[in-house]
Amino acid sequence: MAIIGFIGLGNMGLPMARRLKDAGHEVRCFDTSAAAAGRAEQAGLPTRSSPAAAVDGANVVITMLPSGPLVLDVLVAGDLPFRDGALVIDCSTIDVASCAAFHEALGKRGLATLDAPVSGGVGGAAAGTLTFMVGGMEAAFDRAQDLLQAMGKTIVHAGAAGAGQAAKICNNMLAGISMLAVSEALALARRLGLDSHKFFEIASQSSGQCWALTSYAPEPGLVPSAPSNRDYEGGFASELMLKDLRLAQQAAITGQSPTPLGAAAAAMYAVHCANGRGRLDFSSIILLLDPSRSRAETKETPCASPPAS
Ligand code: NAD
Repeated sequence: MAIIGFIGLGNMGLPMARRLKDAGHEVRCFDTSAAAAGRAEQAGLPTRSSPAAAVDGANVVITMLPSGPLVLDVLVAGDLPFRDGALVIDCSTIDVASCAAFHEALGKRGLATLDAPVSGGVGGAAAGTLTFMVGGMEAAFDRAQDLLQAMGKTIVHAGAAGAGQAAKICNNMLAGISMLAVSEALALARRLGLDSHKFFEIASQSSGQCWALTSYAPEPGLVPSAPSNRDYEGGFASELMLKDLRLAQQAAITGQSPTPLGAAAAAMYAVHCANGRGRLDFSSIILLLDPSRSRAETKETPCASPPAS
C-alpha cells in the first residue's frame, strides 16, 4: 500500500483522495482552504498543515489544482521534501508549458512524473469511474496503475510527458465545439417548427449523431440523465469549459495549428460566462443561442431592468 501526499481537495480532489483511502492507501492531505481541509477531515482524511508535511515520507504525491502556475508554485517553487524516487502525478488540467516545466524540474530531482488529467466530473470522481489520460514514461505509468484504477475506470497511456494534457484539451475542445453545434441545430429546428423529439429521433440515428446530442442533449426532455433536465445544475461548469477552450487556444498558438472553430467556441463561452452563467453546466450554451428558452427552461431570474434615464 502506498503512502500518498494529496494536494488540492476541491470538488474533484476530495472524492479522489477518498477513493484512494478506501482502497487501503495511507493518504495525507493538504489544501490552502480551511473549509476544504475541514471537509476532508469530516470525510475521514487526515490533513497536514503544509504541503511539505503532506509530502514528507510519501512515496506518491498527487496534485489536483486549478491551474498550471499553482501546480508549479506548489511542486517546483515550493522545494518540497520529496522522498527519493517518489512518483509525482499531476491530475489537474493545466497548460502545456506548465506541464512541460513540471516534468522537467521534478525529473531533474530524480523523481518519476506523470501528467494525468481526468474526464468524468465530480460524479465520476466519487464513483471511481474517471477516465485518466496519462503522459510520461512507461515505467512511471506502470507504477501508477493501482492508484489510477482506484480512482478511474478507463486509464490510457497517451504517450510521453505532456501527452495526457494534450489529449485532455483536444477532447474538451471537441466537446465544446460539438455542444455548440448541437445547440445551433436544436435552436434552428425549433424555429423551423420541427418537434424537438422528432428531430432528436432522426438526428440521433443520422449523420448528425454525436455524444453531445445523444448522451448530453442541451434541451430538456430528450436525454433524461442530461443536466438540461435539472436547470443545468451539476455537470461540467461552463467556466471550466471556457478554461479548457482557452488552454486549447494557447496550445494552438504555440503549435501553430489553426483551430477556428475552437476559437469561436472559446469566444462564445466567454460571452456566456460574462452573462453570469459560468456555474451552469456547459450544455446551457443553448441559452446564448436561443434566449427565448431562458426563463422557461431555467430557474434563473432575469436581470433587473436598468433604471429609466
Ligand atoms: P476546485 O476549485 O473545486 O478545487 C481546487 C482546490 O485546490 C481548492 O480546494 C483550493 O483551495 C485548492 N488549492 C488552490 N491553491 C492551492 C495550493 N496552493 N495548495 C493547496 N491547495 C490549493 O477545482 P476542481 O473542480 O476540483 O478542479 C481541479 C482540477 O480538475 C482543475 O484543474 C479542473 O480543470 C480539473 N477538472 C475538473 C472537473 C470538474 O468537473 N470539476 C473535471 C475534470 C477536470
